[in-house]
Amino acid sequence: MEYKKLVEIYNKLGSTTKKLEKADILADFFKHAEADLDVVVMLSLGRVFPKGEKELGIADKLIIEILKKTCGATQDEIIKLFKKTGDLGTTAEMLVKNKKQATLFKRELTIKKIFENLKKLPDISGAGSQEKKIDIVSELISSASPEEAKYIVRTILEQMRFGVSDGIVRDAIARAFGKTPGEIERQYNFTGNFGSVAKLAKENKLYAELEIGKPIRCMLADRAGNLKEAMEKFNNPAIEIKMDGFRTQVHKYGNNVKIFSRRMDEVTSQFPDVVGLIRKYIKADSVILDAETIAVNPVTKAPLAFQVLSRRIQRKYDIDKIVREIPVQVNVFDLLALNNKSYMDESLLKRWEKLKSIVTVKTNIRLVEHMETKDYGKAEKFYKKSLSMGEEGVIVKNLDAYYQPGRRVGYWLKVKDMLEPLDLVVIGGEWGEGKRAKYVGTILLGARRGTEFVATGMLGSGLLEKETEGSEKVTLQKLTNELKKDIIEEKGNEIKVRPRIVLEIGYEEIQKSSKYPSGYALRFPRLLRIRTREKNPEDADTVATIEKIYEQQIRKQKN
Ligand code: AMP
Repeated sequence: MEYKKLVEIYNKLGSTTKKLEKADILADFFKHAEADLDVVVMLSLGRVFPKGEKELGIADKLIIEILKKTCGATQDEIIKLFKKTGDLGTTAEMLVKNKKQATLFKRELTIKKIFENLKKLPDISGAGSQEKKIDIVSELISSASPEEAKYIVRTILEQMRFGVSDGIVRDAIARAFGKTPGEIERQYNFTGNFGSVAKLAKENKLYAELEIGKPIRCMLADRAGNLKEAMEKFNNPAIEIKMDGFRTQVHKYGNNVKIFSRRMDEVTSQFPDVVGLIRKYIKADSVILDAETIAVNPVTKAPLAFQVLSRRIQRKYDIDKIVREIPVQVNVFDLLALNNKSYMDESLLKRWEKLKSIVTVKTNIRLVEHMETKDYGKAEKFYKKSLSMGEEGVIVKNLDAYYQPGRRVGYWLKVKDMLEPLDLVVIGGEWGEGKRAKYVGTILLGARRGTEFVATGMLGSGLLEKETEGSEKVTLQKLTNELKKDIIEEKGNEIKVRPRIVLEIGYEEIQKSSKYPSGYALRFPRLLRIRTREKNPEDADTVATIEKIYEQQIRKQKN
Protein backbone atom coordinates (compact mmCIF):
# COMPACT_ATOMS: atom_id res chain seq x y z
CA MET A 1 0.00 0.00 0.00
CA GLU A 2 1.18 3.53 -0.71
CA TYR A 3 2.20 5.58 2.30
CA LYS A 4 0.15 8.50 1.04
CA LYS A 5 -3.03 6.54 1.81
CA LEU A 6 -1.98 6.26 5.43
CA VAL A 7 -1.13 9.96 5.42
CA GLU A 8 -4.72 10.71 4.38
CA ILE A 9 -5.87 8.70 7.40
CA TYR A 10 -3.47 10.56 9.69
CA ASN A 11 -4.98 13.82 8.50
CA LYS A 12 -8.51 12.56 9.10
CA LEU A 13 -7.57 11.39 12.59
CA GLY A 14 -6.14 14.81 13.30
CA SER A 15 -9.34 16.52 12.22
CA THR A 16 -11.51 15.08 15.00
CA THR A 17 -11.12 14.86 18.75
CA LYS A 18 -13.90 12.28 19.13
CA LYS A 19 -12.66 8.84 20.06
CA LEU A 20 -15.59 7.08 18.39
CA GLU A 21 -14.95 8.86 15.13
CA LYS A 22 -11.26 8.02 15.27
CA ALA A 23 -12.10 4.35 15.83
CA ASP A 24 -14.51 4.44 12.87
CA ILE A 25 -11.92 5.99 10.56
CA LEU A 26 -9.38 3.36 11.54
CA ALA A 27 -11.86 0.46 11.38
CA ASP A 28 -12.72 1.34 7.82
CA PHE A 29 -9.06 1.61 6.92
CA PHE A 30 -8.11 -1.69 8.58
CA LYS A 31 -10.94 -3.48 6.78
CA HIS A 32 -9.42 -2.56 3.43
CA ALA A 33 -5.79 -3.17 4.29
CA GLU A 34 -4.60 -6.37 2.68
CA ALA A 35 -1.28 -8.12 3.18
CA ASP A 36 0.28 -5.30 5.20
CA LEU A 37 -2.53 -5.10 7.76
CA ASP A 38 -0.17 -5.67 10.70
CA VAL A 39 2.17 -2.90 9.55
CA VAL A 40 -0.74 -0.55 8.90
CA VAL A 41 -2.05 -1.13 12.43
CA MET A 42 1.31 -0.46 14.04
CA LEU A 43 1.91 2.70 12.02
CA SER A 44 -1.60 3.91 12.87
CA LEU A 45 -0.48 3.80 16.47
CA GLY A 46 2.57 5.77 15.39
CA ARG A 47 4.84 2.89 16.33
CA VAL A 48 7.20 0.53 14.58
CA PHE A 49 7.68 -1.89 17.46
CA PRO A 50 5.14 -2.92 20.08
CA LYS A 51 5.38 -1.15 23.42
CA GLY A 52 8.19 -2.31 25.62
CA GLU A 53 10.11 -3.74 22.70
CA LYS A 54 12.88 -2.00 20.85
CA GLU A 55 13.25 1.78 20.72
CA LEU A 56 14.21 3.53 17.48
CA GLY A 57 16.72 5.60 19.42
CA ILE A 58 16.67 8.70 17.21
CA ALA A 59 16.76 12.07 18.92
CA ASP A 60 16.05 15.59 17.65
CA LYS A 61 19.73 16.14 16.94
CA LEU A 62 19.89 13.32 14.43
CA ILE A 63 16.71 14.45 12.70
CA ILE A 64 18.33 17.84 12.23
CA GLU A 65 21.33 16.14 10.62
CA ILE A 66 18.99 14.18 8.34
CA LEU A 67 17.16 17.35 7.29
CA LYS A 68 20.46 19.07 6.60
CA LYS A 69 21.44 16.23 4.32
CA THR A 70 18.16 15.75 2.48
CA CYS A 71 16.87 19.30 2.22
CA GLY A 72 20.11 21.22 1.82
CA ALA A 73 19.16 23.51 4.70
CA THR A 74 21.63 24.89 7.23
CA GLN A 75 21.58 24.08 10.93
CA ASP A 76 20.49 27.64 11.72
CA GLU A 77 17.61 27.57 9.26
CA ILE A 78 16.35 24.29 10.69
CA ILE A 79 16.63 25.39 14.33
CA LYS A 80 14.84 28.63 13.50
CA LEU A 81 11.93 26.78 11.92
CA PHE A 82 11.88 24.27 14.76
CA LYS A 83 11.68 27.07 17.30
CA LYS A 84 8.84 28.68 15.39
CA THR A 85 6.77 25.53 14.85
CA GLY A 86 7.71 23.59 17.99
CA ASP A 87 7.64 20.41 15.93
CA LEU A 88 10.33 18.79 13.83
CA GLY A 89 7.64 17.06 11.75
CA THR A 90 6.23 20.36 10.54
CA THR A 91 9.78 21.65 10.11
CA ALA A 92 10.52 18.71 7.81
CA GLU A 93 7.31 19.35 5.90
CA MET A 94 8.23 22.98 5.25
CA LEU A 95 11.78 22.17 4.24
CA VAL A 96 10.75 19.40 1.85
CA LYS A 97 8.13 21.69 0.32
CA ASN A 98 10.79 24.28 -0.50
CA LYS A 99 13.08 21.68 -1.91
CA LYS A 100 10.40 19.96 -3.98
CA GLN A 101 9.76 23.11 -5.92
CA ALA A 102 13.34 22.99 -7.01
CA THR A 103 13.73 19.29 -7.85
CA LEU A 104 10.33 17.79 -8.68
CA PHE A 105 11.79 14.34 -8.15
CA LYS A 106 9.31 11.88 -6.70
CA ARG A 107 9.13 8.15 -6.15
CA GLU A 108 6.11 6.51 -4.56
CA LEU A 109 6.80 5.53 -0.98
CA THR A 110 5.11 2.38 0.23
CA ILE A 111 4.14 1.58 3.80
CA LYS A 112 6.30 -1.50 3.58
CA LYS A 113 9.38 0.50 2.60
CA ILE A 114 8.90 2.92 5.50
CA PHE A 115 8.44 0.09 7.96
CA GLU A 116 11.40 -1.91 6.69
CA ASN A 117 13.78 1.02 6.85
CA LEU A 118 12.69 2.14 10.33
CA LYS A 119 12.82 -1.42 11.65
CA LYS A 120 16.56 -1.53 10.97
CA LEU A 121 17.37 1.44 13.21
CA PRO A 122 17.58 -0.11 16.71
CA ASP A 123 20.05 -2.80 15.67
CA ILE A 124 22.61 -0.41 14.25
CA SER A 125 25.50 0.09 16.61
CA GLY A 126 29.23 0.57 16.66
CA ALA A 127 31.47 2.68 14.48
CA GLY A 128 29.71 4.70 11.83
CA SER A 129 26.28 3.93 13.24
CA GLN A 130 25.12 7.55 13.21
CA GLU A 131 25.92 7.82 9.49
CA LYS A 132 24.11 4.57 8.76
CA LYS A 133 21.02 5.75 10.63
CA ILE A 134 21.12 9.07 8.79
CA ASP A 135 21.31 7.22 5.44
CA ILE A 136 18.36 4.96 6.24
CA VAL A 137 16.04 7.81 7.17
CA SER A 138 17.37 10.13 4.46
CA GLU A 139 16.47 7.56 1.85
CA LEU A 140 12.85 7.89 2.97
CA ILE A 141 12.75 11.66 3.37
CA SER A 142 14.29 12.28 -0.03
CA SER A 143 11.49 10.35 -1.75
CA ALA A 144 8.76 11.79 0.47
CA SER A 145 6.18 14.43 -0.25
CA PRO A 146 6.14 17.29 2.29
CA GLU A 147 3.27 15.74 4.25
CA GLU A 148 4.84 12.30 4.15
CA ALA A 149 8.07 13.76 5.51
CA LYS A 150 6.14 15.31 8.38
CA TYR A 151 4.67 12.00 9.45
CA ILE A 152 7.86 10.01 8.93
CA VAL A 153 9.66 12.38 11.30
CA ARG A 154 6.82 12.26 13.81
CA THR A 155 6.76 8.46 13.70
CA ILE A 156 10.48 8.34 14.38
CA LEU A 157 10.15 10.72 17.30
CA GLU A 158 6.99 8.95 18.51
CA GLN A 159 5.05 12.21 18.53
CA MET A 160 2.17 11.67 16.14
CA ARG A 161 0.03 14.42 17.67
CA PHE A 162 -3.33 13.01 16.57
CA GLY A 163 -4.23 11.24 19.77
CA VAL A 164 -4.64 7.59 18.86
CA SER A 165 -4.41 5.46 21.97
CA ASP A 166 -4.22 1.70 22.37
CA GLY A 167 -7.91 1.73 23.31
CA ILE A 168 -8.93 3.36 20.05
CA VAL A 169 -6.91 0.89 17.99
CA ARG A 170 -8.36 -2.00 19.99
CA ASP A 171 -11.91 -0.78 19.30
CA ALA A 172 -11.11 -0.19 15.64
CA ILE A 173 -9.81 -3.73 15.17
CA ALA A 174 -12.89 -5.10 16.92
CA ARG A 175 -15.20 -3.09 14.71
CA ALA A 176 -13.34 -3.89 11.50
CA PHE A 177 -13.52 -7.65 11.98
CA GLY A 178 -16.75 -8.13 13.92
CA LYS A 179 -15.20 -8.92 17.31
CA THR A 180 -15.78 -7.42 20.75
CA PRO A 181 -13.21 -5.07 22.28
CA GLY A 182 -12.90 -7.61 25.12
CA GLU A 183 -11.83 -10.35 22.70
CA ILE A 184 -9.21 -8.08 21.17
CA GLU A 185 -7.94 -6.97 24.58
CA ARG A 186 -7.55 -10.58 25.74
CA GLN A 187 -5.65 -11.52 22.60
CA TYR A 188 -3.45 -8.46 23.04
CA ASN A 189 -2.55 -9.70 26.50
CA PHE A 190 -1.37 -12.90 24.93
CA THR A 191 0.59 -11.49 22.02
CA GLY A 192 1.36 -7.90 23.03
CA ASN A 193 1.22 -6.70 19.46
CA PHE A 194 -1.82 -5.04 17.93
CA GLY A 195 -0.47 -5.74 14.44
CA SER A 196 -0.58 -9.48 14.89
CA VAL A 197 -3.85 -9.28 16.85
CA ALA A 198 -5.49 -7.56 13.87
CA LYS A 199 -4.27 -10.30 11.53
CA LEU A 200 -5.59 -13.02 13.83
CA ALA A 201 -8.94 -11.20 14.13
CA LYS A 202 -9.22 -10.86 10.36
CA GLU A 203 -8.50 -14.55 9.85
CA ASN A 204 -10.85 -15.57 12.67
CA LYS A 205 -7.93 -17.10 14.50
CA LEU A 206 -8.05 -15.37 17.87
CA TYR A 207 -6.66 -17.83 20.35
CA ALA A 208 -6.88 -16.18 23.75
CA GLU A 209 -6.64 -19.55 25.35
CA LEU A 210 -3.40 -20.81 26.66
CA GLU A 211 -1.94 -23.03 23.98
CA ILE A 212 1.19 -25.02 24.44
CA GLY A 213 3.73 -24.01 21.83
CA LYS A 214 2.37 -20.47 21.43
CA PRO A 215 4.07 -17.80 23.51
CA ILE A 216 2.14 -15.65 25.90
CA ARG A 217 3.19 -12.25 27.24
CA CYS A 218 5.11 -12.43 30.47
CA MET A 219 3.80 -11.08 33.74
CA LEU A 220 5.76 -7.96 34.64
CA ALA A 221 6.98 -6.44 37.87
CA ASP A 222 6.46 -2.91 39.20
CA ARG A 223 9.13 -1.04 41.07
CA ALA A 224 8.85 -0.47 44.80
CA GLY A 225 10.61 2.38 46.56
CA ASN A 226 12.06 0.07 49.17
CA LEU A 227 11.66 -3.33 50.74
CA LYS A 228 9.41 -2.15 53.55
CA GLU A 229 6.95 -0.55 51.14
CA ALA A 230 6.88 -3.75 49.09
CA MET A 231 6.37 -6.07 52.06
CA GLU A 232 3.55 -3.93 53.41
CA LYS A 233 1.64 -4.05 50.12
CA PHE A 234 0.53 -7.66 50.45
CA ASN A 235 -1.26 -9.70 53.12
CA ASN A 236 0.68 -12.76 52.10
CA PRO A 237 4.03 -11.89 50.56
CA ALA A 238 6.75 -14.13 49.21
CA ILE A 239 10.22 -12.81 48.56
CA GLU A 240 12.38 -14.14 45.74
CA ILE A 241 15.86 -13.40 44.51
CA LYS A 242 15.85 -11.27 41.39
CA MET A 243 18.37 -12.97 39.14
CA ASP A 244 20.02 -10.91 36.43
CA GLY A 245 19.42 -13.04 33.40
CA PHE A 246 17.17 -13.73 30.49
CA ARG A 247 13.44 -14.26 30.87
CA THR A 248 12.68 -17.70 29.54
CA GLN A 249 9.24 -19.06 28.83
CA VAL A 250 9.44 -22.79 28.40
CA HIS A 251 6.80 -24.89 26.64
CA LYS A 252 7.15 -28.67 26.87
CA TYR A 253 4.80 -31.21 25.33
CA GLY A 254 5.91 -34.79 25.24
CA ASN A 255 9.47 -34.64 24.07
CA ASN A 256 9.04 -31.29 22.31
CA VAL A 257 10.42 -28.19 23.94
CA LYS A 258 10.12 -24.60 22.77
CA ILE A 259 11.75 -21.64 24.41
CA PHE A 260 10.55 -18.06 24.06
CA SER A 261 12.06 -14.76 25.16
CA ARG A 262 10.31 -11.93 26.98
CA ARG A 263 9.61 -10.43 23.57
CA MET A 264 8.05 -13.71 22.52
CA ASP A 265 10.78 -14.52 20.01
CA GLU A 266 11.54 -18.19 19.76
CA VAL A 267 15.10 -18.90 20.94
CA THR A 268 14.97 -22.70 21.14
CA SER A 269 17.88 -23.21 18.76
CA GLN A 270 20.19 -20.99 20.83
CA PHE A 271 19.59 -23.09 23.94
CA PRO A 272 19.87 -26.81 23.14
CA ASP A 273 21.26 -27.36 26.65
CA VAL A 274 18.12 -25.87 28.20
CA VAL A 275 15.99 -28.10 25.98
CA GLY A 276 17.91 -31.10 27.37
CA LEU A 277 17.50 -29.96 30.97
CA ILE A 278 13.76 -29.45 30.58
CA ARG A 279 13.27 -32.85 28.94
CA LYS A 280 15.17 -34.56 31.70
CA TYR A 281 14.27 -32.74 34.88
CA ILE A 282 10.72 -31.44 34.47
CA LYS A 283 8.26 -34.15 35.33
CA ALA A 284 5.22 -33.37 33.21
CA ASP A 285 3.62 -34.49 29.97
CA SER A 286 2.90 -30.91 29.06
CA VAL A 287 3.87 -27.74 30.84
CA ILE A 288 4.44 -24.00 30.46
CA LEU A 289 7.02 -22.54 32.84
CA ASP A 290 8.38 -19.10 33.56
CA ALA A 291 12.06 -18.92 34.42
CA GLU A 292 15.16 -16.74 34.46
CA THR A 293 18.20 -18.18 32.71
CA ILE A 294 21.60 -16.95 33.81
CA ALA A 295 25.12 -17.59 32.56
CA VAL A 296 27.44 -19.37 34.98
CA ASN A 297 31.17 -19.83 35.20
CA PRO A 298 31.98 -23.18 33.51
CA VAL A 299 34.23 -24.25 36.41
CA THR A 300 33.00 -22.61 39.59
CA LYS A 301 29.35 -22.39 38.45
CA ALA A 302 29.18 -18.86 39.93
CA PRO A 303 26.64 -16.55 38.25
CA LEU A 304 27.99 -14.27 35.52
CA ALA A 305 26.75 -10.86 34.41
CA PHE A 306 24.00 -10.53 31.85
CA GLN A 307 26.47 -9.22 29.27
CA VAL A 308 28.07 -12.66 29.09
CA LEU A 309 24.75 -14.35 28.53
CA SER A 310 23.79 -11.91 25.79
CA ARG A 311 26.58 -13.41 23.66
CA ARG A 312 24.67 -16.66 23.75
CA ILE A 313 21.37 -15.09 22.86
CA GLN A 314 22.84 -13.36 19.82
CA ARG A 315 24.76 -16.38 18.55
CA LYS A 316 23.32 -18.00 15.45
CA TYR A 317 26.17 -20.41 14.54
CA ASP A 318 28.65 -22.68 16.33
CA ILE A 319 26.04 -23.16 19.03
CA ASP A 320 27.67 -26.28 20.47
CA LYS A 321 30.90 -24.42 21.08
CA ILE A 322 29.30 -21.51 22.88
CA VAL A 323 27.14 -23.89 24.93
CA ARG A 324 30.36 -25.33 26.34
CA GLU A 325 32.02 -21.93 26.80
CA ILE A 326 29.07 -20.27 28.49
CA PRO A 327 26.96 -22.78 30.37
CA VAL A 328 23.65 -21.61 31.77
CA GLN A 329 21.49 -22.24 34.77
CA VAL A 330 17.68 -22.22 34.56
CA ASN A 331 15.93 -20.73 37.59
CA VAL A 332 12.27 -21.65 37.43
CA PHE A 333 9.85 -19.37 39.26
CA ASP A 334 6.34 -19.86 37.89
CA LEU A 335 3.92 -22.32 36.38
CA LEU A 336 1.36 -21.28 33.76
CA ALA A 337 0.00 -24.64 32.69
CA LEU A 338 0.41 -28.28 33.57
CA ASN A 339 -0.88 -31.37 31.80
CA ASN A 340 -3.38 -29.45 29.69
CA LYS A 341 -4.72 -27.41 32.60
CA SER A 342 -4.14 -23.66 32.83
CA TYR A 343 -2.81 -22.47 36.18
CA MET A 344 -2.93 -18.79 35.30
CA ASP A 345 -6.03 -18.16 37.36
CA GLU A 346 -4.67 -19.98 40.40
CA SER A 347 -2.93 -18.14 43.22
CA LEU A 348 0.84 -17.96 43.27
CA LEU A 349 0.70 -20.02 46.46
CA LYS A 350 -0.88 -22.88 44.56
CA ARG A 351 1.28 -22.44 41.46
CA TRP A 352 4.44 -22.52 43.53
CA GLU A 353 3.32 -25.66 45.44
CA LYS A 354 2.65 -27.45 42.16
CA LEU A 355 5.88 -26.19 40.61
CA LYS A 356 7.92 -27.64 43.46
CA SER A 357 6.48 -31.05 42.73
CA ILE A 358 7.58 -31.16 39.10
CA VAL A 359 11.13 -29.75 39.13
CA THR A 360 14.01 -32.11 39.88
CA VAL A 361 16.63 -29.74 41.24
CA LYS A 362 20.13 -30.09 39.73
CA THR A 363 23.07 -27.67 39.50
CA ASN A 364 21.89 -26.25 36.17
CA ILE A 365 18.16 -26.29 36.78
CA ARG A 366 16.65 -25.06 40.01
CA LEU A 367 13.76 -23.32 41.61
CA VAL A 368 14.40 -19.65 42.29
CA GLU A 369 15.15 -18.97 45.97
CA HIS A 370 11.74 -18.24 47.44
CA MET A 371 10.70 -17.46 51.00
CA GLU A 372 7.16 -17.00 52.27
CA THR A 373 7.18 -14.65 55.23
CA LYS A 374 5.41 -11.63 56.67
CA ASP A 375 8.34 -10.91 58.96
CA TYR A 376 10.18 -7.79 57.79
CA GLY A 377 13.36 -8.77 59.63
CA LYS A 378 13.57 -12.07 57.81
CA ALA A 379 12.81 -10.41 54.49
CA GLU A 380 15.56 -7.85 55.09
CA LYS A 381 18.08 -10.58 55.80
CA PHE A 382 17.05 -12.32 52.59
CA TYR A 383 17.40 -9.05 50.64
CA LYS A 384 20.84 -8.30 52.08
CA LYS A 385 21.99 -11.82 51.34
CA SER A 386 20.85 -11.48 47.74
CA LEU A 387 22.79 -8.22 47.33
CA SER A 388 25.91 -9.71 48.92
CA MET A 389 25.68 -12.56 46.42
CA GLY A 390 25.91 -9.92 43.70
CA GLU A 391 22.28 -10.31 42.63
CA GLU A 392 20.23 -7.33 41.46
CA GLY A 393 17.82 -7.38 44.39
CA VAL A 394 14.58 -9.16 45.14
CA ILE A 395 11.04 -9.43 43.86
CA VAL A 396 8.29 -9.37 46.47
CA LYS A 397 5.25 -11.24 45.19
CA ASN A 398 1.64 -11.43 46.26
CA LEU A 399 0.96 -15.09 47.04
CA ASP A 400 -2.78 -14.55 46.58
CA ALA A 401 -2.49 -13.16 43.05
CA TYR A 402 -3.12 -14.92 39.75
CA TYR A 403 -0.79 -14.74 36.73
CA GLN A 404 -1.58 -11.62 34.71
CA PRO A 405 0.10 -11.77 31.29
CA GLY A 406 1.67 -8.67 29.88
CA ARG A 407 0.75 -6.27 32.62
CA ARG A 408 2.26 -4.48 35.52
CA VAL A 409 -0.60 -4.90 37.93
CA GLY A 410 1.40 -4.49 41.10
CA TYR A 411 1.35 -8.13 42.17
CA TRP A 412 5.10 -8.39 41.77
CA LEU A 413 7.27 -5.62 43.15
CA LYS A 414 10.95 -5.43 42.44
CA VAL A 415 13.30 -3.92 44.97
CA LYS A 416 16.74 -3.16 43.65
CA ASP A 417 19.87 -1.75 45.13
CA MET A 418 20.28 1.79 43.88
CA LEU A 419 23.48 3.52 42.99
CA GLU A 420 24.47 6.53 45.05
CA PRO A 421 21.89 9.31 44.50
CA LEU A 422 22.78 12.48 42.58
CA ASP A 423 21.90 16.08 43.29
CA LEU A 424 20.70 17.54 40.00
CA VAL A 425 19.20 20.81 38.92
CA VAL A 426 15.90 21.35 37.11
CA ILE A 427 16.73 23.06 33.82
CA GLY A 428 13.52 22.61 31.87
CA GLY A 429 10.43 20.56 31.36
CA GLU A 430 7.32 19.94 29.38
CA TRP A 431 3.72 20.74 30.18
CA GLY A 432 1.55 17.68 30.76
CA GLU A 433 -1.18 16.44 28.47
CA GLY A 434 -4.96 16.31 28.78
CA LYS A 435 -6.11 16.82 32.35
CA ARG A 436 -2.55 17.51 33.41
CA ALA A 437 -1.96 20.26 30.87
CA LYS A 438 -1.76 22.92 33.57
CA TYR A 439 0.99 21.10 35.38
CA VAL A 440 4.55 20.47 34.40
CA GLY A 441 4.50 16.90 33.11
CA THR A 442 8.16 16.05 32.82
CA ILE A 443 11.22 17.66 34.27
CA LEU A 444 14.57 17.95 32.57
CA LEU A 445 17.47 17.34 34.94
CA GLY A 446 20.85 18.94 34.52
CA ALA A 447 24.29 18.21 35.90
CA ARG A 448 26.99 20.81 36.33
CA ARG A 449 29.70 21.24 33.69
CA GLY A 450 31.81 24.28 34.48
CA THR A 451 29.33 27.09 34.95
CA GLU A 452 26.69 25.45 32.76
CA PHE A 453 24.06 22.80 33.44
CA VAL A 454 23.68 20.05 30.86
CA ALA A 455 20.77 17.64 30.54
CA THR A 456 21.18 14.13 31.82
CA GLY A 457 17.69 12.75 32.15
CA MET A 458 13.97 13.30 32.34
CA LEU A 459 11.84 12.78 35.39
CA GLY A 460 8.16 12.03 34.88
CA SER A 461 6.21 14.07 37.40
CA GLY A 462 3.54 11.38 37.55
CA LEU A 463 5.85 9.71 40.01
CA LEU A 464 6.31 12.67 42.25
CA GLU A 465 3.57 12.44 44.81
CA LYS A 466 3.85 8.72 45.20
CA GLU A 467 7.57 8.39 45.40
CA THR A 468 8.87 11.29 47.40
CA GLU A 469 10.43 10.04 50.58
CA GLY A 470 11.74 13.24 52.11
CA SER A 471 10.02 15.22 54.82
CA GLU A 472 9.01 17.90 52.36
CA LYS A 473 6.10 16.51 50.39
CA VAL A 474 6.14 17.58 46.77
CA THR A 475 2.86 18.04 44.99
CA LEU A 476 2.51 18.62 41.30
CA GLN A 477 0.84 21.93 41.97
CA LYS A 478 3.61 23.07 44.26
CA LEU A 479 6.35 22.08 41.89
CA THR A 480 4.56 23.71 38.95
CA ASN A 481 4.20 26.95 40.95
CA GLU A 482 7.87 26.89 41.79
CA LEU A 483 8.91 26.23 38.21
CA LYS A 484 6.65 28.94 36.81
CA LYS A 485 8.77 31.49 38.61
CA ASP A 486 11.83 30.26 36.78
CA ILE A 487 10.65 30.01 33.18
CA ILE A 488 13.02 31.80 30.81
CA GLU A 489 11.83 30.38 27.48
CA GLU A 490 8.75 28.57 26.25
CA LYS A 491 8.49 26.73 22.92
CA GLY A 492 5.48 24.53 22.12
CA ASN A 493 4.91 22.62 25.31
CA GLU A 494 8.56 22.79 26.30
CA ILE A 495 9.91 25.16 28.89
CA LYS A 496 13.40 26.19 29.79
CA VAL A 497 13.94 27.30 33.37
CA ARG A 498 16.57 29.20 35.28
CA PRO A 499 18.62 26.63 37.19
CA ARG A 500 17.54 26.99 40.83
CA ILE A 501 15.73 23.91 42.13
CA VAL A 502 18.03 21.13 43.30
CA LEU A 503 16.61 17.63 43.52
CA GLU A 504 18.11 14.49 44.97
CA ILE A 505 17.59 11.81 42.36
CA GLY A 506 17.85 8.06 42.73
CA TYR A 507 18.21 5.81 39.67
CA GLU A 508 19.07 2.29 38.75
CA GLU A 509 21.79 2.73 36.23
CA ILE A 510 23.76 5.25 34.21
CA GLN A 511 23.91 4.73 30.47
CA LYS A 512 25.91 6.46 27.75
CA SER A 513 23.52 8.48 25.66
CA SER A 514 23.64 10.57 22.53
CA LYS A 515 20.27 12.03 23.44
CA TYR A 516 21.51 14.25 26.25
CA PRO A 517 24.29 16.83 25.96
CA SER A 518 25.95 15.47 29.12
CA GLY A 519 26.56 12.22 27.19
CA TYR A 520 24.89 10.22 29.96
CA ALA A 521 21.33 9.25 30.82
CA LEU A 522 19.95 8.03 34.10
CA ARG A 523 17.85 4.88 33.88
CA PHE A 524 14.63 4.99 35.91
CA PRO A 525 15.31 8.26 37.71
CA ARG A 526 13.11 8.98 40.71
CA LEU A 527 12.82 11.88 43.07
CA LEU A 528 14.08 11.29 46.58
CA ARG A 529 14.07 14.82 48.02
CA ILE A 530 14.01 18.50 47.21
CA ARG A 531 17.33 19.91 48.31
CA THR A 532 16.94 23.57 47.39
CA ARG A 533 17.08 24.63 51.04
CA GLU A 534 20.37 22.87 51.64
CA LYS A 535 22.03 23.22 48.28
CA ASN A 536 22.55 25.85 45.64
CA PRO A 537 22.74 24.85 41.97
CA GLU A 538 26.49 25.48 42.19
CA ASP A 539 26.71 22.65 44.71
CA ALA A 540 24.95 20.15 42.45
CA ASP A 541 26.77 17.11 41.09
CA THR A 542 28.94 17.44 38.02
CA VAL A 543 29.10 15.49 34.78
CA ALA A 544 32.52 14.28 35.98
CA THR A 545 30.86 12.65 39.00
CA ILE A 546 28.35 10.93 36.75
CA GLU A 547 31.21 9.72 34.61
CA LYS A 548 32.95 8.34 37.70
CA ILE A 549 29.85 6.45 38.87
CA TYR A 550 29.38 5.14 35.33
CA GLU A 551 32.89 3.76 35.31
CA GLN A 552 32.44 2.15 38.73
CA GLN A 553 29.29 0.54 37.46
CA ILE A 554 31.06 -0.89 34.40
CA ARG A 555 33.86 -2.28 36.57
CA LYS A 556 31.27 -3.91 38.83
CA GLN A 557 29.53 -5.49 35.84
CA LYS A 558 32.80 -6.95 34.57
CA ASN A 559 33.67 -8.61 37.87
P1 AMP B 1 12.92 -5.69 35.14
O1 AMP B 1 13.54 -6.32 33.92
O2 AMP B 1 13.86 -4.84 35.93
O3 AMP B 1 11.60 -5.05 34.83
O4 AMP B 1 12.56 -6.88 36.16
C1 AMP B 1 11.70 -7.92 35.82
C2 AMP B 1 12.47 -9.09 35.30
O5 AMP B 1 13.22 -9.71 36.34
C3 AMP B 1 11.61 -10.21 34.80
O6 AMP B 1 11.19 -9.98 33.48
C4 AMP B 1 12.52 -11.41 34.87
O7 AMP B 1 13.23 -11.55 33.65
C5 AMP B 1 13.52 -11.03 35.95
N1 AMP B 1 13.49 -11.88 37.15
C6 AMP B 1 14.58 -12.28 37.81
N2 AMP B 1 14.27 -13.03 38.87
C7 AMP B 1 12.92 -13.12 38.90
C8 AMP B 1 11.99 -13.74 39.76
N3 AMP B 1 12.38 -14.40 40.85
N4 AMP B 1 10.67 -13.61 39.49
C9 AMP B 1 10.26 -12.90 38.40
N5 AMP B 1 11.10 -12.28 37.54
C10 AMP B 1 12.42 -12.39 37.78
